Amino acid sequence: MTYSPITPNDINVLTEIVGPDQLTTTHADRLLRAKDQSQHAAKLAEVILFPQTALQVAEILRYANQRCIPITPWGVGTSLEGNPIPQYGGITLSLERMTRIIKVHHDDFQVTVEPGIGHKDLNRELARFGLFFPPDPGANATIGGMLANNAAGIRTVKYGASKDNVLRMQVALADGRLIHVGSRSIKQSAGYDLLHLFVGSEGTLGIITEATLKLVPLPQLMSAVVASFPTISAAIETVVAIKASGLDPAALEFIDPKQCAILRDHAGVNLEEKPTLFMEFHATHRETLEYGLQELLQICNDQGATGFRATTDHAERAKLWQARHHAFETLVRVHPGKTFVIDDVSVPLSAYPVLIAYIEAQLAEHDVPAYMKGHAGDGNIHVEFPFGDAHEYDRAMQVNDRIVLKAIELGGTCTGEHGVGIGKAKYMQAEHGQALAVMWAIKQTLDPNRILNPGKIFPPDFFNG
Ligand SMILES: Cc1cc2nc3c(=O)[nH]c(=O)nc-3n(C[C@H](O)[C@H](O)[C@H](O)COP(=O)(O)OP(=O)(O)OC[C@H]3O[C@@H](n4cnc5c(N)ncnc54)[C@H](O)[C@@H]3O)c2cc1C
Repeated sequence: MTYSPITPNDINVLTEIVGPDQLTTTHADRLLRAKDQSQHAAKLAEVILFPQTALQVAEILRYANQRCIPITPWGVGTSLEGNPIPQYGGITLSLERMTRIIKVHHDDFQVTVEPGIGHKDLNRELARFGLFFPPDPGANATIGGMLANNAAGIRTVKYGASKDNVLRMQVALADGRLIHVGSRSIKQSAGYDLLHLFVGSEGTLGIITEATLKLVPLPQLMSAVVASFPTISAAIETVVAIKASGLDPAALEFIDPKQCAILRDHAGVNLEEKPTLFMEFHATHRETLEYGLQELLQICNDQGATGFRATTDHAERAKLWQARHHAFETLVRVHPGKTFVIDDVSVPLSAYPVLIAYIEAQLAEHDVPAYMKGHAGDGNIHVEFPFGDAHEYDRAMQVNDRIVLKAIELGGTCTGEHGVGIGKAKYMQAEHGQALAVMWAIKQTLDPNRILNPGKIFPPDFFNG
């Protein structure tokens, strides 16, 4: 695929669309948006644009499409698979200045926002209404980036992923049309589900310029629980037992012993060096919460738990989740000079124990250093491999490949929540078979000049074919 390089005339036209303060070509600005948080190599865009309205986004797309200039949307770059890296240069379209809350539909438990608002910033505002948007990927990701990646996080086990919490979006298409997909009705069955076609499309089909999100009331009571186990399999069997009990956890996270030790030593959390579950429960009545905790204690004891600590203290709970959310940054800090390959696979819950046992066996057999943590309640696991040179990287990738193919074989997916980006494109054929050609046909229909986030989701033979 050949694209047009950006000319001085392009810069003039784009400046007219967005205004002189909303465009930059400085090396520092381009470098800042050349790479996400993954191990994938940085690529520089030729120009960064900061549109402030949906109409500007549509105008930019119309022009880029006519000129065949690649265009990669950018939220805040917290992706973990190279999703917003401008692989083919061109324009990086940063939505970071479209941060307005357009309307809180308080009585409908909904909010309409621009795509660049961070979900944490949004939730701070919504707290005044006693409401919140539940998907929580940890980092202060933008709503546009979360919808584009179908991000999930620790609360998905109770509230669903981003796709489950959006009702309607405005999307700018490659040819400059602005369309609405979905509606503000909770029930929707009018035709093809275009809303969910764009969710998870990683900016390859259109740019999200507005979204109406579902909200839920802030829970009145919350408890956090930490339980430790003698073996990884005991911890994982407990996850299945908790889900089967109907206790409805709001978070159900697994952390391996080595990572617990790091959190204890570097994040000040009181943890044993054992396979551990972090959990959270929400309730409206104290009795319900207490009854649930008793039942949970019984389940954990039945699986041989060696430690069980429950708290409703706000500060203690906040510290625990802060440590969990920053666990990756802590890992990076204690491995100076190393980069990480982060795997993200997900399987049906019944296959979770098999997958985890397989990962343990692979790591032991190939003697590859790695950490495991995961949104266990969703059957999702992240394996984090530190590497310092090409040899360590190759060894990590060999084990990573096996884990991904095993997850697919178990009826799961190559990516539970980080999206395909660059890193998972090579597994798309194995996971989707002939359906991948259908995805490509959709891509060709909506973006025939392949200007939108080129080089993502599809393996190179599709893209260059
Ligand atoms: C420490 C850490 C922990 C994380 N934990 C989790 C986790 O638990 N769960 C999880 O799901 N993710 C997690 N992530 C990954 C990341 O936060 C999510 O993928 C998030 O959705 C990215 O949002 P962003 O705003 O940074 O978007 P970016 O990374 O900037 O972009 C994401 C993708 O969306 C596209 N895009 C951005 N805005 C738009 C738009 N308006 N319209 C169309 N396309 C757009 C980009 O081109 C790119 O393909 C974590 C990341 C870090 C660094």
